Amino acid sequence: MPSPEGQKIAVVGAGIVGISSALYLQRAGFSVTLIDRQEPGHGASFGNAGALAPHAFVPVNSPSIPRRLLPLMFAAGSPLSINWSYAPRMLPWLMSFLAHCGEAEVGRIAGALHALLSRNLDYALPLLRASGADRMMRAGGYLHLYESEADYAACAAEIALYKRLAGDVEEIDAAEIRRLEPNLAPVFVRALHFGSALHYYGSPAGVCLRLAEHFCAGGGTLLRDDIRAIEARPDGRLRVAGTQDRVYDQVVLAAGAHSRRLTGGAMEKLPLETERGYHVVFGQDGDIITRTCSSATAGFAMTPMAEGLRCAGMVELAGLDKAPNPACHAYLERTARRFLPALAERPSSSWMGFRPSMPDALPVIGRSGRTPNLILAFGHHHVGMSSGCVTGAIVAAIAAGEPPPVDIAPYSPARF
Ligand SMILES: Cc1cc2nc3c(=O)[nH]c(=O)nc-3n(C[C@H](O)[C@H](O)[C@H](O)COP(=O)(O)OP(=O)(O)OC[C@H]3O[C@@H](n4cnc5c(N)ncnc54)[C@H](O)[C@@H]3O)c2cc1C
Repeated sequence: MPSPEGQKIAVVGAGIVGISSALYLQRAGFSVTLIDRQEPGHGASFGNAGALAPHAFVPVNSPSIPRRLLPLMFAAGSPLSINWSYAPRMLPWLMSFLAHCGEAEVGRIAGALHALLSRNLDYALPLLRASGADRMMRAGGYLHLYESEADYAACAAEIALYKRLAGDVEEIDAAEIRRLEPNLAPVFVRALHFGSALHYYGSPAGVCLRLAEHFCAGGGTLLRDDIRAIEARPDGRLRVAGTQDRVYDQVVLAAGAHSRRLTGGAMEKLPLETERGYHVVFGQDGDIITRTCSSATAGFAMTPMAEGLRCAGMVELAGLDKAPNPACHAYLERTARRFLPALAERPSSSWMGFRPSMPDALPVIGRSGRTPNLILAFGHHHVGMSSGCVTGAIVAAIAAGEPPPVDIAPYSPARF
């Protein structure tokens, strides 16, 4: 691989993964163009729950899912929602998802996610500090809450994983929950407290914008363009087609859930789907809790931010084109009020966005087998805000032909 100096590289997608990749490529000496059709940080990186959670290595895939799937699909007030007209198109992804729910497989996935998440802060902090975005982050930990002893017992396998892999977990009782977060309703009997988690207090999109400004201040080019295609040329370079054609030595594809749509034949066929997620913000209630709090069964997390209390999560299987489902916003509002009865007002804003999800809950990070100068970096599903920066460092190492900081075999595009 020739040296980075003089090499032109494009990063398509300015979410947390693309921006971090652009910054680490810039540090390695590449001439970098970051391209997005929106403002930086306005995809999934905009509306998430804003937890930077090194402990988020337990995948949604779980040995109990095959048993719980039907009740989750049909129960009123479930955090899982399916658009039935889209369901036939999701069937292959769902079948593959279920095939990755065995106990040994979940242990393997958790290990591979832990390898990524546990290194993320090593690569996030230098970017946050250099850009000044560290002032938009808050420490304080993360509370994962259980409403009954039965819920706690039902989650024994995931709790065992947390205790085995997370270095910062502490089990706490109802009295300690009340002491840490007195505004929570007394409905939680136990919690896991992860002491080293941070949250994006200044909003995840605010941090992304600050990082993108830092990239531009360092000489990077930020382009606003809707990319239609990425194609290999006979000379091995890549054509990136938007409102005009541009040619690069290498391209990083970090367009989140939309990544499959842009490559035509340049990329191998990969089972990328979207798990749509929702949020509501209570604008006057940003100080009602002090750290991210999630419920083990409600499927969402609540995070205090400068903009207010953000309640974000849920999974809706409905693809990229359907309109948002108002029932999901209603569920979030209703359940947040049950957990925090002192919430004063109607939500001040709401949002729906697209998690990029592979059926085995692992991202795709590596060179395309079909087009070697195309580097794939997408599929970070529920944990991209907690693993985007280390992914950026991995991408830069791949582009420069150097050993990546984490073994990337589990994230290989060739695994499907
Ligand atoms: C409700 C919810 C809650 C979440 N909570 C958390 C959390 O608390 N902690 C955590 O770690 N993770 C969380 N996540 C997951 C996290 O938000 C995602 O994994 C992460 O944002 C993915 O980042 P990305 O850069 O891969 O994709 P995105 O942020 O979606 O970025 C992709 C970019 O590509 C651009 N793009 C797409 N198509 C084109 C095109 N044709 N041309 C040009 N540009 C294009 C888009 O505009 C977008 O900016 C949550 C997600 C959701 C939905």
